Amino acid sequence: MTEPTILKVAVNVPLSRLFDYLPPAGHASVPAGTRVLVPFGRRKQVALVLDAGQGSDLPTEKLKRCDARLDDEPLLSAADLELLRFTSAYYHHPVGEVAAAALPALLRAGKPLWPIDRYVAITPTGAATDLEALAQKAPRQAELLQHLLDAGGGGLAEDELTEILPNWRRSAKSLFEKGCLERFEAQARPDTVDHDLPSTAGPPLNDDQQSAVERVRAQPGFAAFLLDGVTGSGKTEVYLTLIADVLAAGRQVLILVPEIGLTPQLVGRLRVRLGVEPAVLHSGLSDARRLHAWRNAQQGIAQLVVGTRSAVFTPLPQLGMIIVDEEHDHSLKQQEGLRYSARDLAIVRARNADIPIVLGSATPTLETLQHCNAGNFTRIALPVRAGGATPPVMKLVDLGRSASNDALSEPLAAAMEKHLHADGQVLLFLNRRGFAPTLICSQCGHIAECTRCDSRMTVHARDRALRCHHCGAHAPLPSACSECGSEVRPLGEGTERLEDIVNARFPGAIVQRIDSDSTGQRGAIEAALTRAEEGSANILVGTQMLSKGHHFPQLTLVGIINADQGLFGTDFRSAERLAQSIIQVAGRAGRESVQGEVLIQTAYPAHPFWQSLIDGGYPRVAEESLAERQESRWPPFTRLALVRSAAHRQDDALNFLQRAADHLAGQPSGYLRVLGPVNAPMARKAGRYRAQLLIQGSDRKVLHERLASLRAMLEADALARRVRWSIDVDPIELF
Ligand code: ADP
Ligand code: ZN
Ligand code: ZN
Repeated sequence: MTEPTILKVAVNVPLSRLFDYLPPAGHASVPAGTRVLVPFGRRKQVALVLDAGQGSDLPTEKLKRCDARLDDEPLLSAADLELLRFTSAYYHHPVGEVAAAALPALLRAGKPLWPIDRYVAITPTGAATDLEALAQKAPRQAELLQHLLDAGGGGLAEDELTEILPNWRRSAKSLFEKGCLERFEAQARPDTVDHDLPSTAGPPLNDDQQSAVERVRAQPGFAAFLLDGVTGSGKTEVYLTLIADVLAAGRQVLILVPEIGLTPQLVGRLRVRLGVEPAVLHSGLSDARRLHAWRNAQQGIAQLVVGTRSAVFTPLPQLGMIIVDEEHDHSLKQQEGLRYSARDLAIVRARNADIPIVLGSATPTLETLQHCNAGNFTRIALPVRAGGATPPVMKLVDLGRSASNDALSEPLAAAMEKHLHADGQVLLFLNRRGFAPTLICSQCGHIAECTRCDSRMTVHARDRALRCHHCGAHAPLPSACSECGSEVRPLGEGTERLEDIVNARFPGAIVQRIDSDSTGQRGAIEAALTRAEEGSANILVGTQMLSKGHHFPQLTLVGIINADQGLFGTDFRSAERLAQSIIQVAGRAGRESVQGEVLIQTAYPAHPFWQSLIDGGYPRVAEESLAERQESRWPPFTRLALVRSAAHRQDDALNFLQRAADHLAGQPSGYLRVLGPVNAPMARKAGRYRAQLLIQGSDRKVLHERLASLRAMLEADALARRVRWSIDVDPIELF
């Protein structure tokens, strides 16, 4: 008698194991990469087959049978599954949850890859219409008919129509009545590829760009490159040339960008220059559009996929190159649930697929620079701006010696005056939104705090509220102290207050504030940034949001309002981070004819950090920080993992991690340092007490063996039911 085939499936539950099932009735087996519906406890679950073979820990008669097979063809290839397995093993995260993170929501929920769509098509009556005559009377109807005439008998899906003509339904009504159009339902069909979009050539590459392109071309197969180029050095032009090569060879390209870097401008530039329609994947898409883009990638129809971090999992059967733009950006790391670095997984993916990967940044991470130093990655420098613009000069403003009664020192205000007078645009960078970070009582000194977090409430003047930036709690702005009834006043500055100060100081100027409060939605940010780019505001006031993706051609002066927060940070990455954010904002300034200026306000002008940054720029700060990290044995010279816990009772959070520490201590040696458990820097957040345990290892293999055994132990621990916990491998925030 032959043994039955047993399917090993991944189920979206927080358990680090696969589950065994018999194939559904009528199926001898189901290939890996296919979804099945399985009975799981008292529910039905969508699961992904990872393996089909013989043997199970359970006797065959105890095994349950899958209810159904959900895909005719596997959704994921062997290479895709390999990446999921790697992700699960490296980040010590349940493979079922990894699979869930990799699939679009509709597929995760068991919906078909090719859903039933509603279509509209032209009828013979419609085709016989005199379009010119109709265009005279009802131009919108004529336009709709023309599109459907072009589409032929298959018609267009309603969603597609909505994209082309948002108000098509209004014009369609009378066309249906006249019998010119018909409606039907049908299964979604593969998109047709438009190979012939018009494309325009870019500027001829300069010597640095040309040599960058040639160095990448010289290494087919896996190789990792760092394109280390100052803002405006023409990195994007280099990407475009490299992408064109790969597309011409009939292969696909994946471009990963930070959340805020994925702008309509970038997508438009890709489309216009390459003549292909990029499939775009980001968290703001509707489920249907996300599935559509994913399917086009998976079917090999989309040649170019551009997306934010989770796009790293997109199946791409013909993948020929990966590009990670702004590789230093934190949004490439997912900070909750499955905590992964899209950049690092992209490198693994490129290695598996034996293709090149290009990481680009003006401020590369020390991890990436160290890979270059060690010879793992090839560093390619683009040291000068391509358009001929000169880099801005950076200067410090000593707050101790210059008169200022608010956030704006006299030297900075004078420089603003000068630049505005010369028709330059000014950008003021303050990484703190709201009106003021603190509300204090002028009599008793009481400070308004969040009731659910160990943190202060931020004053928001525009909507007259106190808001907690950590848990989202909010309350109306009080007019008197809750303790003694005396007058309260805001202390310190956020972007709202800075906006007021600037308006008062420069009454004739148009001021535009750009932060997540002023802009709210994705589209609104875009509109505000585009207006800023076009130069219709004289002074821009904003947070980090101003420092990415956009170039402001009129901008000649950047003022950094308060950089000192970053000087004394407790995180070993503080210096790297501060330098990155200053250099990124500074990069927005300067045009061909006018030298840009960057003024940095500080109360500590003698701090060695400033000397390094002013004299040597980012490369000097990076070099010195790397030396310090080697000295003090921080990454990239060692590896870290952070185990976090959160619970309603502080004891539970700490005890849980104490068991983790004991477990690690009881294991055979091998260099591993366990620090903690300790309360998290913000011990209480959103009503939960938080603690953490830092594990530092010099040997990756040893560290990962210990983490695997730790994960198994913690999953089985009874206390885990009262504690939210996670393992963060290669954490970038140490709290
Ligand atoms: P980065 O991506 O490094 O910030 P971009 O590729 O966006 O730089 O280029 C910055 C600006 O310089 C763009 O306006 C671009 O059109 C222009 N540029 C890039 N390369 C060249 C070149 N070789 N000759 C002329 N202009 C160029
Ligand atoms: Zn008081
Ligand atoms: Zn709070």
